[in-house]
Amino acid sequence: MVTKDIICITCPQGCIIKVTGDPAKGEITSCEGFKCKRGKVYAENEFIRPLRILTTSVKTEGAVVPLLPVRTSAPIPKEMQIEAMAEVKKLTVKAPMKPGDVIVADFMGTGADLVASGSL
Ligand code: SF4
Repeated sequence: MVTKDIICITCPQGCIIKVTGDPAKGEITSCEGFKCKRGKVYAENEFIRPLRILTTSVKTEGAVVPLLPVRTSAPIPKEMQIEAMAEVKKLTVKAPMKPGDVIVADFMGTGADLVASGSL
């Protein structure tokens, strides 16, 4: 059994939510300190499987700038971030690109796309 204090970043109030359970089993026995349902959902997800949007850049080919800023279209599991960065390093993009253009659909099977967040 583990207890974690999780700061809710869903809104500026920054409630500290205390979650107890077994994250490996996906079990939560108590969740206290949230002021709204969004915070409860955030803290429980953060306790069991934290997610983060990956923001980085991809090499370009034949463009004026050497790198294009990219991000995932939705949060992906935090524990995949290092592996995801290794995958991004293998990629190269060519112009033209604009924000929102999909570079890799269903990036690493996460359900999120890797998309451009800048232009080439
Ligand atoms: S629990 Fe609700 S009120 Fe508190 S920080 Fe999270 S979203 Fe804001």
